[in-house]
Amino acid sequence: MKDDDPNAAPLLDGRGLYRFFRVGEDETAALRGVDIRVRRGETVAVIGPSGSGKSTLLACLAGLDEPSGGAVHVGGTRISHRPEAERSRLRARHVGILLQSGTLIRHLSVRDNIRLARAADRHGRHRPVTELLDQVELSHRADALPQELSGGELARAGLAAALANDPDVVLADEPTGELDGDSEQRVLQILRRRANDGRAVLLVTHSSAALSIADRVITLHDGRNVDERD
Ligand code: ADP
Ligand code: MG
Repeated sequence: MKDDDPNAAPLLDGRGLYRFFRVGEDETAALRGVDIRVRRGETVAVIGPSGSGKSTLLACLAGLDEPSGGAVHVGGTRISHRPEAERSRLRARHVGILLQSGTLIRHLSVRDNIRLARAADRHGRHRPVTELLDQVELSHRADALPQELSGGELARAGLAAALANDPDVVLADEPTGELDGDSEQRVLQILRRRANDGRAVLLVTHSSAALSIADRVITLHDGRNVDERD
């Protein structure tokens, strides 16, 4: 479903988002009224200069940070402005997060990292780790430690962890920043497939390859969305 379908309720919906940070005596406004919606089946890219609020936006949409104003809904459920424990439970169930810094634990194997990332579904069941590894073509690296992986493998292991709970929404901050062309394509294809399977994908990126898989591109400037194009 695309933007012009009025019946398509957004899977990810951030409205009127503000985020202020207090630094000593000063207050910085990282977000000043950002509106963003990603519908089922859509891949949306966010671009903008350094310091424009991209990472802050992603953290607020992911429920990792709390906006100072506005609201975030995922699949119709509000995840902002809730107690931390509740926010983290909703996040684990509905949102897959891929951070630039990586989210894997260093002393655990790829298999154990992915095991740890899974939350049981409401029937107490887990997706098999082998299936998650297969999905990112990493079955042969299950026993490796994160530091033994190549950059591309590391990115895909992070992706497997982000997809462990089959989230409706995947949020990624520069997911392919340090990858070579071939590794980047593999990660982008997996993300694109998520959207094609009826989920929503939002990525912060500067890579032209990543922009080419996006249905829409939103530009942030000084904490505001200033432009949107297909
Ligand atoms: P981007 O990802 O687009 O480079 P960020 O979202 O990281 O931008 O930062 C937006 C603005 O908010 C910057 O001015 C940054 O210095 C400020 N900022 C972000 N996080 C914090 C924080 N935890 N404390 C204080 N200021 C912050
Ligand atoms: Mg950033």
